[in-house]
Amino acid sequence: MKIILLGPPGAGKGTQAKIITGKFAIPQISTGDILRKAVKDQTEMGKRAKSFMDSGGLVPDEVVIGIINERITEPDCSKGYILDGFPRTLIQAEALTEALTALGGDIDFVIDLKADAETLSRRLSGRRVCRECGQMFHVEFNPSKIDGKCDKCGGELYQRDDDKEETVLKRFEVYDTQARALESYYSTSGRYKPVDGNASMEDVSQKVLDILGG
Ligand SMILES: [Zn+2]
Repeated sequence: MKIILLGPPGAGKGTQAKIITGKFAIPQISTGDILRKAVKDQTEMGKRAKSFMDSGGLVPDEVVIGIINERITEPDCSKGYILDGFPRTLIQAEALTEALTALGGDIDFVIDLKADAETLSRRLSGRRVCRECGQMFHVEFNPSKIDGKCDKCGGELYQRDDDKEETVLKRFEVYDTQARALESYYSTSGRYKPVDGNASMEDVSQKVLDILGG
């Protein structure tokens, strides 16, 4: 089963991916992770990626696609995989279709976790992180016992720049524009499955498993 998991930061992609990998025994392929691994293993594409990273530039689509290609042909992907964070753009989606066609297959499901800006902002902007030990809290869903102090080590809690409301909203806008292009690309076939990502994690994973037939 080959799955693409789409969703903005804060929609719970990581949680859902973990549940799916556990249930169907297929690996989760996250672009950032495999990029780092390809560089470390010095694969052909890894070496190319490193030259762009060393010069401070973005790794171009063709290299990212090359690394994904290397990864999905590894033995542990024989029963399928979940792509998390890829494709991000229409160009990447088209390149992925081309690569999969060459391998004699295609994506089975595109799960789109749809959440609105308000939900994401509420989830992300409430996050607090300990300066000392990195422990995460949430002012609403998982508050520390003493306001502004870490339960574990007593360190000061702070809000990361990435979690500030204006940053969250800006990232969402960028994401949303790209995601709508992917939606129209994939929604011409029956494999595109939108899921309401504003619901609780439990409800979302139940819907996802229903779709995948788990
Ligand atoms: Zn701490």
